[in-house]
Amino acid sequence: MPLTPDQRAEIEAARATPRPTLRAVSEGMEAHLYRAHELLDHGFIRVIDYMGDDAAIVQAARVSYGAGTKHVQNDEGLIRYLMRHWHSTPFEMCEIKLHVKLPVFVARQWIRHRTANVNEYSGRYSILDREFYIPQPEQLAAQSVVNNQGRGEVLTGAEAARVLEILKRDAAQCYDNYESMLSTTDQNGDGQQGLARELARMNLPMNIYTQWYWKTDLHNLFHFLRLRADSHAQYEIRVYAEAIAACVKDWVPLAFGAFEDYRMGGATLSAKAISVLKRQLKGEKVTQEESGMSKGEWREFCEMWG
Ligand SMILES: Cc1cc2nc3c(=O)[nH]c(=O)nc-3n(C[C@H](O)[C@H](O)[C@H](O)COP(=O)(O)OP(=O)(O)OC[C@H]3O[C@@H](n4cnc5c(N)ncnc54)[C@H](O)[C@@H]3O)c2cc1C
Repeated sequence: MPLTPDQRAEIEAARATPRPTLRAVSEGMEAHLYRAHELLDHGFIRVIDYMGDDAAIVQAARVSYGAGTKHVQNDEGLIRYLMRHWHSTPFEMCEIKLHVKLPVFVARQWIRHRTANVNEYSGRYSILDREFYIPQPEQLAAQSVVNNQGRGEVLTGAEAARVLEILKRDAAQCYDNYESMLSTTDQNGDGQQGLARELARMNLPMNIYTQWYWKTDLHNLFHFLRLRADSHAQYEIRVYAEAIAACVKDWVPLAFGAFEDYRMGGATLSAKAISVLKRQLKGEKVTQEESGMSKGEWREFCEMWG
């Protein structure tokens, strides 16, 4: 269970006491504030705080004194211009702080994004909960034969059952041993002191859940989403990125629209690719050998442009 009834009550209590403010408020984001979006079997993301809105990006770009122009169309045009031309600093004026609960192997991928501020739940100070990520049967897939970093066909029948059983058994056994090493009860009459929490956690598997507060600005968040909400990202981190993206869409709809258009949906062309496209548009037939591109580049180019 991602949240206990007490934790849910705490969140609702926080939402029940709104206060007036002079700060920029995004109505879309207010609806998400504090609430948990549940993910995988025990995980979630929650927006804890945010700063700025679409107007804040426009204000910063114009270095203006007030709320900027009154014309949404002008604001949208400017935001799209900024995104198109990689004029990124105005997007850094917006910030978001998230509370995330996630399996450790997902956290290891996530923490590679260095341009954020992180504070993680301490396994030295606290005892970790008995919560492990066990994939849904449709996510138990074989190694992909075309992509070394991916999954292929879904496992079925006895193999799927065997794998699930191993994952569950190992998690249970490791946690039992963790508890037994921590324990100060003297089962064998030999005066067991209990191993320190910072050491007992060593044998816990990577599918145990951890939690952190993660704060970043909108520019770096877009970079994170570009990589982790992409189909090449592992499913387990992708679901987190997609849930964050849904909140960002409500928070800064204009900036998110530009991001979707230019980054998520757009593509970068090399000089060689532009040259080939120009020749093809004139009706010329171009082969990979003539293109100057490697086989890999050519394959990706053809996948993109047909
Ligand atoms: C599909 C996929 C597969 C991956 N596979 C692997 C893998 O096999 N092995 C592996 O180790 N990693 C892997 N990664 C992680 C990847 O290499 C990056 O470390 C990760 O995506 C973070 O990207 P980033 O450094 O751009 O992000 P951030 O750390 O958030 O940085 C954002 C940007 O800030 C700048 N920046 C930040 N710090 C520095 C710095 N110290 N010096 C210069 N510029 C800086 C860079 O421009 C950077 O792009 C993979 C990532 C993806 C999405």
